Amino acid sequence: MSAKPILYIVIPCYNEEAVLPVTAPMFLKKLEALVDSGRVSASSRILFVNDGSKDATWALICALAEKDPRVLGVCLSRNRGHQNAVLAGLMEAMDRCDITISIDCDGQDDLDAMDAMVDAYLDGCEVVYGVRSRRDTDTWFKRTTAQGFYRLMNGLGAEVVYNHADYRLVSSLVLRHFADFGEANIFLRGMFPLVGFKSTCVYYERRERLAGESHYPLGKMLALAFNGITSLSVKPISLITGVGVGFSLLGLIASLWAVVKVILGQTVHGWASLFCIVCLLGGIQLVSLGVIGQYVGKTYMETKRRPRYIVSERTWEKGRRRWIEEEREK
Ligand code: UDP
Ligand code: MG
Repeated sequence: MSAKPILYIVIPCYNEEAVLPVTAPMFLKKLEALVDSGRVSASSRILFVNDGSKDATWALICALAEKDPRVLGVCLSRNRGHQNAVLAGLMEAMDRCDITISIDCDGQDDLDAMDAMVDAYLDGCEVVYGVRSRRDTDTWFKRTTAQGFYRLMNGLGAEVVYNHADYRLVSSLVLRHFADFGEANIFLRGMFPLVGFKSTCVYYERRERLAGESHYPLGKMLALAFNGITSLSVKPISLITGVGVGFSLLGLIASLWAVVKVILGQTVHGWASLFCIVCLLGGIQLVSLGVIGQYVGKTYMETKRRPRYIVSERTWEKGRRRWIEEEREK
């Protein structure tokens, strides 16, 4: 067999000081097991991305990196959100490894699914999606809203793998092509299917968060869904056009009916019904304008071509601050 693939496990962290000390040893143990089982190279690493945390997360990552050469860390200059943090990690890892696995740092996703992911890669798949087989551990509310989220996404033309979040193996070959997707509004789980290549799913059970709190309350979930849909599809605009055509036809029929009534001498005194219709149509128009405005706004943001994230520090490079201090000491 040819040389073993180098694996980078990419882990975004935002205010995770409570959970990191618990899960970091778990990730290291898993990496060790993967190396021992002969699946991946001993040069494999864990790459933590600090997404502008306001707590001690970065200090914890630096301490871990100092203690164990298998741990690496990059720090973003500010909080850029989960998707951008994962992207930053993947782009940093791309040229240093053969495969990446992205996973949340809260220990909810079953680490043992990595074995099957790497096996699928060794069998020739370039992308392997981790899919939750059950959601018993989520609250009823989270479960229902999440199911609705996938239905809505697919219904509105954003192709996503059902019950797949961001636990995923991607080869560096795919990442190099993915790097050409330069859009500012990113929704990773909907974008990797667009890159193509041979892919498969690996099923696992999702557990409860080991510590700390979820950063995805309902508001953020809705924002993610809306962002996903408007980033991947223009179907809502066609739907709006359809609704507009439907209501126009309805209006036409109603006008004809009114003319007939006048001719028959049965004038209608229904200001209430008129009022309702005006309100309804006004509402639909405002929503439609809002949706179209979202697309215009997105186009505006895309034209700026701003960087999606800025790396301020890397554990394997001398920090700027430290460099200044050393210069001063001379
Ligand atoms: N996260 C991040 N930036 C953010 C929010 C979250 O990097 O702005 C990370 C977080 O540290 C975790 C992952 O994204 O590793 C998923 O977040 P969380 O567990 O809060 O979401 P949930 O699993 O509840 O959907
Ligand atoms: Mg979580």
